[in-house]
Amino acid sequence: MKKNVGVVFGGRSVEHEVSIITGLQIMENIDKDKYDVVPIYINKEGKWLTGNGLFDFENFKHNNFEDTEEIMISPTHNDFNLYAIPNKAGIFRKKIVGKVDIIFPAIHGTNGEDGTIQGLFELMNVPYVGSNVLASSVGMDKILMKDVFKSNNLPIVDYTWFYRSKWIENREEILEEIENKLKYPLFIKPANLGSSVGISKAIDRNSLINGVEIAIRYDRKIIVEKAIENPREINCAVIGYDENLKTSLCEEPLGWQEFLSYEDKYVNSNAKYGGEERRRIPADIEDEIRAEIETIAKKSFKAIDGRGNARIDFLLDQKNKIYVNEINTMPGSIAYYLWEGKGISFKQLINEMIDIALKVYDEKE
Ligand code: ATP
Ligand code: MG
Ligand code: MG
Ligand code: MG
Repeated sequence: MKKNVGVVFGGRSVEHEVSIITGLQIMENIDKDKYDVVPIYINKEGKWLTGNGLFDFENFKHNNFEDTEEIMISPTHNDFNLYAIPNKAGIFRKKIVGKVDIIFPAIHGTNGEDGTIQGLFELMNVPYVGSNVLASSVGMDKILMKDVFKSNNLPIVDYTWFYRSKWIENREEILEEIENKLKYPLFIKPANLGSSVGISKAIDRNSLINGVEIAIRYDRKIIVEKAIENPREINCAVIGYDENLKTSLCEEPLGWQEFLSYEDKYVNSNAKYGGEERRRIPADIEDEIRAEIETIAKKSFKAIDGRGNARIDFLLDQKNKIYVNEINTMPGSIAYYLWEGKGISFKQLINEMIDIALKVYDEKE
């Protein structure tokens, strides 16, 4: 019997638009012989919608949600049923609009990649694709992630961090701490974000202050890292759970300047949605380096107890020293392009991710 897969996308995060693309790509490429799709779109206000209007990219471009219904989820049911919210005031009329056997969250960043929505699915007792609550939240927080990588002896750049509240109270003290610990150039990042949003590079105290002022708009925790100068960026994905892990091809994103910006990643590089592909796959690196990257990728995945399919981002310095920069537990476009060259099609990748989720769910029972 076919299973109903609820693909959840959008979400209340600055990566909302990226998530729409990932969600649509998953719905387009899912194995239609095995699965029926129930599209679930979380709009920017946090409302949950379902309906046929959600299969078409044009509708998102024109903000046209005519062929959709707002839904609510009943936490009292073990089955993950979707109910339409009654629109006639005062009359409580529940109407089931969909039943979901498994959830495929395709949300990046806040409220989607950080363990919050995963917690909801745990409470609902519905199987879901990807990392669990713990791995998602550790993977999302660049400070905790680096702490965990460090304690697993994985190669990372030096870093320090502070609270926004302390910055507002006593920025001089923080500036001194940073400058005592790290040498310019530096990278300033909001701790819990993705897609390069809120990130800047600093070459001196002035640009450091400016960078922090940007970052604190997005987060209450800020991480400052030693910048690798003129790095090469190499990304590698890992799929699996527990000790059963395999790695994808490595990619090298190309064509960026100071650092890979939001525009480089999505606007300029997504052929189908108006950009051009700008990545070299496989990356042009020596076998030895590739092998080391694959080993560190698996170790990083395991360090946070990852599950499903994650993309691990690396930086290579001028001497080819490898640093693991971060793990993305729900990478853009589920990094399908890294698996194709390994003989795993987009469709097979989705199948594998769903199989892992169902297996882990069954083992839990
Ligand atoms: P995403 O999740 O989309 O990959 P992100 O917002 O989580 O991005 P990072 O990957 O940490 O952010 O950083 C964004 C980019 O900034 C990197 O791809 C790289 O180009 C650059 N960068 C980040 N940290 C450093 C560093 N320490 N040294 C040199 N470049 C860096
Ligand atoms: Mg990231
Ligand atoms: Mg991300
Ligand atoms: Mg990154």
